[in-house]
Amino acid sequence: MTEWGLYVHIPFCQARCTYCDFNTVTGMGEAEHRRYTDALIREWAGEMLPSGPLVSIFFGGGTPSLIDPHLLGRVIDRVDARVGGISAAVEVTVETNPGTVTPEKLAILKEVGVNRLSIGAQARQNHHLLSLNRIHDVSAIDETVAMARDVGFRNINLDAIYGLPGQTLIEWQETVEGLLRLAPQHLSLYALMVEAGTPLKQQLDRGQAVLPQEDAVADMADWAETRLGAAGLLPYEISNYAIPGLESRHNRLYWQLEPYLALGAGAHAYVSPRRWWNVRGVRRYMELIEGGADPGDGEEELTLAEEMREYAWLGLRQRRGIDRAAFRARFAIDPVVAFGSLVESLGGQGLLEWNESRLWLTARGRDVASVTARALVDAPIEGLPAPSVPNS
Ligand code: SF4
Repeated sequence: MTEWGLYVHIPFCQARCTYCDFNTVTGMGEAEHRRYTDALIREWAGEMLPSGPLVSIFFGGGTPSLIDPHLLGRVIDRVDARVGGISAAVEVTVETNPGTVTPEKLAILKEVGVNRLSIGAQARQNHHLLSLNRIHDVSAIDETVAMARDVGFRNINLDAIYGLPGQTLIEWQETVEGLLRLAPQHLSLYALMVEAGTPLKQQLDRGQAVLPQEDAVADMADWAETRLGAAGLLPYEISNYAIPGLESRHNRLYWQLEPYLALGAGAHAYVSPRRWWNVRGVRRYMELIEGGADPGDGEEELTLAEEMREYAWLGLRQRRGIDRAAFRARFAIDPVVAFGSLVESLGGQGLLEWNESRLWLTARGRDVASVTARALVDAPIEGLPAPSVPNS
């Protein structure tokens, strides 16, 4: 039976970080939080549930930890009631920002069934946190983790970003070492992405901020991988490290192209072969639901070739690569046959390797992962039509 997950988008933030282009709003208070979670519950009541067991609920944002944890508890209760009981094995994650929680709030999250926290640390230098417009300082990161442990959370992820404007390798090493001292079970280390329309992009365009050189950023990634390996946190995807056995189930749903439903403004859901998404505007989303209308803003049906390409790309982002038997079971063709000429070509360039059971990116392949992704998007597939939309 196919396992599936649920993403719940909580769009509220206290302030907007300079690099962020997520679907978030600031300045909404408790009444709007309540109204929004009522809308989530109404949306949930109308969802068609995939067959098979629910294995993950992920409250992402935004800053889910900003709102009253009882509101998240209400959503969890409704999910529990409709799926016939959330088992203890279901991963229930809440994205949490330092500066938005107290021991009481964390205890309530635990009580309502949350068993994993994903804490946005981002950096361990106050000047970087300040220039990113984060709402917390370094000491708040440590306090949040300490409070979470005190109330009994045993599965904690910490997020950090490298390649920040003006960041040196030594600062990055300090960040990673500082996070390791907090003994997380999981680390997500993201290379900074500069998104159009963000304050960060404007600062860079005006010369008010300068990014480190590409080589320096690659050195940060390489150093972190070696250091984390020595600490027992193994890479299982390009940006994600975990103590073996504590990899994020929710991440795996996405990367293995497994089904997930999604609630909330701008949230995207996928149940093969269909992907659909809600309107982005938070007020619009609430108004539509309150008026009894569908909050959907669009949908697409992936072709078999699109699913194969997406599955292959997401598979290659994972350290263990693509499981050839799983690919054959899903698509009735072996990936080495399906992507024959591309596999040969990437293999010839030293970017890809394979054996009888798997295909995976080499270290060089991971360094130029975007090139590999691009090649897969354009790749012909044995026995199927070529991509119909030319990519420019
Ligand atoms: S807290 Fe997270 S979601 Fe909110 S603005 Fe900052 S990066 Fe974006």
